[in-house]
Amino acid sequence: MSWKDNVRKMVPYVPGEQPQGRDVIKLNTNENPYPPAPGVAEALRGMADDYAVMRKYPDPDATILVKSLADYYGVKENMIFTGIGSDDVLAMAFMTYFNSDKPILFPDITYSFYEVWAALFNIPFKMPPLKDDLTIDPADYMCPNGGIVIANPNAPTSLYLELSHIEDIIKANPESIVIVDEAYIDFGGESALPLIDKYENLLVVQTFSKSRSMAGARIGVAFGSETLIGYLKDVKFSFNSYTMSHDAIRIGSAAASLADVDYFKETTKKIISVREEAIQRLTEFGFDCLKSSTNFIFCTHEKIKASLIYEELKNREIYVRYFNKPRIDNYLRITVGTPEEMEGLYKALDEIINQNA
Ligand code: PMP
Repeated sequence: MSWKDNVRKMVPYVPGEQPQGRDVIKLNTNENPYPPAPGVAEALRGMADDYAVMRKYPDPDATILVKSLADYYGVKENMIFTGIGSDDVLAMAFMTYFNSDKPILFPDITYSFYEVWAALFNIPFKMPPLKDDLTIDPADYMCPNGGIVIANPNAPTSLYLELSHIEDIIKANPESIVIVDEAYIDFGGESALPLIDKYENLLVVQTFSKSRSMAGARIGVAFGSETLIGYLKDVKFSFNSYTMSHDAIRIGSAAASLADVDYFKETTKKIISVREEAIQRLTEFGFDCLKSSTNFIFCTHEKIKASLIYEELKNREIYVRYFNKPRIDNYLRITVGTPEEMEGLYKALDEIINQNA
């Protein structure tokens, strides 16, 4: 017997590489290539004069952030929950809502953290396989289950499932909680947010990390019925009350405020237009790209192995994401960067493809 026998052992989620050099082209973790809205910089400057506030604990309810979100989305404050990135929100939601003996359901190819949380919280789970074209079959979610999690658009596939199908899944599951993870919804597709007034068992999760350019601030949000959000808050306050810092609350509130809508729309539009051009260019290079509704492209090359392209790009200090997993081990996930970053990528791909064709 060793003390190690009593240790909880996990196979953790592996986050994307975070190279710190200034010269790298970083297209591997779906960050936004543009800075956060100007209101965020203003809020940061204000904080320098107010540093003494650090001696106090932050507001456990993140009231000003919740108020800004309530105004922006037209949702009641008691239907909003905030957390340290949507990873924190989702982990809390798994802990709160998935306590059935029946398995929860999520696709075999999706955000790989779902499987890790299910293991961490001892939640039984089943992963219905995506169809051959990597789309979700809603019929797979119409069977007895302990809960459902769907990323829409899905990652890493970048594919959007029509909102009517999402609603069909919710309708068919009045006895389960359905979580729709909308990390990428601002880049394409229709949000399930309006459905929270209709379905008490729906939780819609979003993040400031992608469309709002604030991955470093770690702000995530969930919307749901008052009852659903109440249960989530009870678990969160049973775990750690003061999770979001003063700074995150203030800059999050600034970013969510109406004043920055124009900036948000402009940067999102730019990313979508660079994405569409990138799909065209990558196709010319011999890639098959899935139809993206996100700020990344999921693609496979007709001749050259994804693992080789990934390594060759990395040798040139260009980072994209490669998943060595069944069914997708010949795909690359490429975040949409600035037009300049994308030019750097095309130049490197041109070399790599010519050398290996
Ligand atoms: N959901 C999906 C589908 C994601 O791709 C990510 C980003 N890794 C997250 C949630 C978590 O993002 P964050 O914690 O930065 O909000």
